[in-house]
Amino acid sequence: MKYPAEPFKIKTVETIEMTSREEREDIVKEAGYNTFLLPSKNVYIDLLTDSGTSAMSDKQWASLMIGDEAYGGSENWFKLRDAVQEIYGFDYVVPTHQGRGAENLLSQIMIEEGDYIPGNMYFTTTKAHQELNGGKFVDVIIDEAHKPSVERDFKGNVDLDKYKKLIDEVGADKIPYICVAVTVNMAGGQPVSMENIKKVKEISEKHGIKVMSDATRCVENAYYIKEREDGYQDKSVREILKEMMSYFDGCTMSGKKDCLVNIGGFLAMNDADMYQEATSLVVMYEGMPTYGGMAGRDMEAMATGIYESVDEHYIEHRIKQVRYLGDKLAEAGIPIIKPVGGHAVFLDAREFLPHLSQDQLPAQALAAAIYLDSGVRAMERGVVSAGRDADGSHHYPKLETVRLTIPRRVYTYAHMDVVANSVIDLYEKRDKISGLKFVYEPPTLRFFTSKFEPLNDKLIAD
Ligand SMILES: *Cc1c(COP(=O)(O)O)cnc(C)c1O
Repeated sequence: MKYPAEPFKIKTVETIEMTSREEREDIVKEAGYNTFLLPSKNVYIDLLTDSGTSAMSDKQWASLMIGDEAYGGSENWFKLRDAVQEIYGFDYVVPTHQGRGAENLLSQIMIEEGDYIPGNMYFTTTKAHQELNGGKFVDVIIDEAHKPSVERDFKGNVDLDKYKKLIDEVGADKIPYICVAVTVNMAGGQPVSMENIKKVKEISEKHGIKVMSDATRCVENAYYIKEREDGYQDKSVREILKEMMSYFDGCTMSGKKDCLVNIGGFLAMNDADMYQEATSLVVMYEGMPTYGGMAGRDMEAMATGIYESVDEHYIEHRIKQVRYLGDKLAEAGIPIIKPVGGHAVFLDAREFLPHLSQDQLPAQALAAAIYLDSGVRAMERGVVSAGRDADGSHHYPKLETVRLTIPRRVYTYAHMDVVANSVIDLYEKRDKISGLKFVYEPPTLRFFTSKFEPLNDKLIAD
């Protein structure tokens, strides 16, 4: 089916509030035109992020009731370990409070001052931990990933020539590992092919470089392989995922995405010595190696979520619901990043608002205008998110986007229609949308808390 119906029925509901346009005028102004600062109760459809926003199943809620809150050796920890071993195939598991906790451990264990860590596009927290430990992130994703309108089946692939060139230039002994993200968040949720993963493994093995994965959205990646890569159509997502993971020496995982929980994560690996090191570090930053920053009940819910995440009907609906929104927008001529990725539809804000220069913060203005127009909350991923360079000037990223991120199992196709219609409506009056200027800017990670004002007297002119 092109767009399969929701493979679940609804047992508990959460009412959402509809505000009037007049109310939103005040609310968005109060929030400094930054969608991160909007109170959630004033948001009609919340597409800020897919992180920690998943709806848990009845079985996951039941899992919470069998939490074993023992300080050591919790029963739920063994369940989580078994789930990771069974579904992902790694020998050792270290639980963490969320993905960045695992990134912290991995970076501390593997990176030394002056090392280089290649990766298929940066991610904010991943890169921050690499740098904190004296490493330098090097982008080795294929060029096409930076081009919004170029369609490729596997736009998240590692550019093998860029990778080999880096090895030649700096030497394999300066590269402790390559980090392969599956799918690539910052490129728009674009997948990596099995063939590409195998080649990365081959090159790395030859040079004694480890291959670690940012496995945050790995189930979504497995689905794309089933759909698009020759030879995988008759395999289950579960089998494909296990094969993908077999080429990695370990992974960091944010349970808040593909594991279908609201909080949690883990570091997994096959190397016993590395596991030893990780267990001695985790007690300093997270907690005992058998809870790592999570309550027993949370580990149980995550174990249950890991099994649910590889259900064929679930993952097919997940990918296709996102695609449904993207297709609707594309059919109406709205500029989006193509092809539509696994977790979100990205609007190309430069194309949407060609009358604004990047200095006038087009993606920030568009995200604020979408909220003002319809109560839908999206997120800026453009010059504001990219921050400033060492010399203090704005860092101008090639992609200036607004991300409409779809939480897992939370909204229906009808909600997607509402979102599509409001973006299409706004596109028809796009020339009325004003740019923004900073009125408050924090020193780091400015997108979270910056405040803005419209350059004209109104964000959307009458
Ligand atoms: C969310 C995310 C992380 C960090 O995980 P948290 O659970 O938010 O700490 C790392 N990598 C990618 C690709 C992510 O999307």
